[in-house]
Amino acid sequence: MGTTTAYKLGFGRYKERTLEWLFFNDPGYVWWMIKDDVHTQKLKGPTLPRFNDLVRRARRLRIPGTCKWCKMGKPISRMFLTQHTSGGLAKVDFDCDTCRPLGGSNTTHFQPGFFTPDAFRKYDKTGGKFMVQAIKQAYFKDPSYRMTQKRLEEFFGNPKNFL
Ligand SMILES: [Zn+2]
Repeated sequence: MGTTTAYKLGFGRYKERTLEWLFFNDPGYVWWMIKDDVHTQKLKGPTLPRFNDLVRRARRLRIPGTCKWCKMGKPISRMFLTQHTSGGLAKVDFDCDTCRPLGGSNTTHFQPGFFTPDAFRKYDKTGGKFMVQAIKQAYFKDPSYRMTQKRLEEFFGNPKNFL
């Protein structure tokens, strides 16, 4: 802690948490924040531009490795999200753009990111958890990899992790 990038949210239930923490721990909260400017306007001083910068990166993840479905050595270029019939996010995985889309009618493909505001505008804590587990598995080969503040800052600070 104590680095210049460790900005805290400063309001609401995650008041004492850092901005970086939010993306890996409750991305549904970020979806909720950005759907309405009222919430982002609560971010004070340099916290708002830092948040916007993190959002920009979090929308454009460069998932490491190659597509596990076609096994053709293609880079991963899509994230596919499967919704419960009731609406929440049920499953998150990745493939390449030459793969035939998997998952049926409840599945939508997006550019890999921590959120997909087009499909999931509503706060979804459980869905956010599935998404974070899939992203951790892709980057760290461990769905429950522990993200310390140092690791969070290294992740967001590494340009190779983003498009
Ligand atoms: Zn593929």
